Amino acid sequence: MDAQLERLAALVDQTGALIALYDADDRLRYANDAFRAAYFIEAGEEPLWPDLMRRNFGLGRGTVINAVDFEEWLRSTQSRRGKTGFRAFESDLHDGRWLWMTEAVDESGWMLCIAGDITHLRAEERSIRQDRDLAIKVSQTDELTGVANRRFVMAQITEMQERFIRAPEGKGCLVVLDIDNFKYINDRFGHQAGDIVLRDFAHRIHQNVRRSDCFGRVGGEEFVLVMPGTAVSEGVALVERLLVIIRASRPLTDPPDFAYSFSAGIAGCRKTDGVSDLYRRADQALYSAKMAGRNRVLAGEQ
Ligand code: GH3
Ligand code: MG
Ligand code: MG
Repeated sequence: MDAQLERLAALVDQTGALIALYDADDRLRYANDAFRAAYFIEAGEEPLWPDLMRRNFGLGRGTVINAVDFEEWLRSTQSRRGKTGFRAFESDLHDGRWLWMTEAVDESGWMLCIAGDITHLRAEERSIRQDRDLAIKVSQTDELTGVANRRFVMAQITEMQERFIRAPEGKGCLVVLDIDNFKYINDRFGHQAGDIVLRDFAHRIHQNVRRSDCFGRVGGEEFVLVMPGTAVSEGVALVERLLVIIRASRPLTDPPDFAYSFSAGIAGCRKTDGVSDLYRRADQALYSAKMAGRNRVLAGEQ
């Protein structure tokens, strides 16, 4: 048995794991080299756990403790420490390492702590999370203009309509916007100029809608604006302001005096509507705006 213990003691200092043993009074009774190095404990030193934590907190080393008042942190931590037979948690060190810390407590209150370095693992998780977030972003963004794409705005329309049906005093409206004579712009100044106009339009509208509104490109030179909590009259007033902004824009350097406009149709949510009914009414209002001479916003039947 002694031979095995000797072998164990030797290997314990060879392993990368951090290992420590605390007695029932929370005094450190054993720690391997890795543990002593991580928490700045001299060889042979046997501090009480709270004293060790306080010392390292004061010197800004060891465990990262996100608290202004150390004693308050200590109280709340001690009220949970060593109460259950086993617990495990993530813990980060000031040196940048992330640890997976386990604590096993026996019936007499002695505690064995074993911690493994998970810095690398977490980094991989981080990059997976970042990749996932990027993929989600790409799937919801229009490539040419950088605003929300059809998929995203359609989901927003559905959400607005569902919210409207749930809320008794709800409001909400949908605007469909379409650039006027865009085919002519493409034919006259080239497809690249057309793309510049599309981007100019998207960026200016995007800059001038509220954060609670959702603006996106649904295809070609057609865009929608989803405005939850907004009455049709308020929506019309906003689109009137957008018309002024777009009329004043001069997005092309050649010719520098090039100007363009758009037409818009707006429809308010109805309790009996499905999303396609709402969209159809806004689209019909857009058609009326085009027929009436373009460069304007019209509201559909309410
Ligand atoms: P109206 O005022 O009635 O809306 O006329 P319009 O010419 O704008 O409408 P129409 O639907 O006839 O033409 C839309 C044009 O938009 C046709 C298509 O070639 C062009 N288009 C669609 N997507 C893009 C794009 O991504 N870039 C460019 N440059 N043109 C596009
Ligand atoms: Mg058009
Ligand atoms: Mg169109």
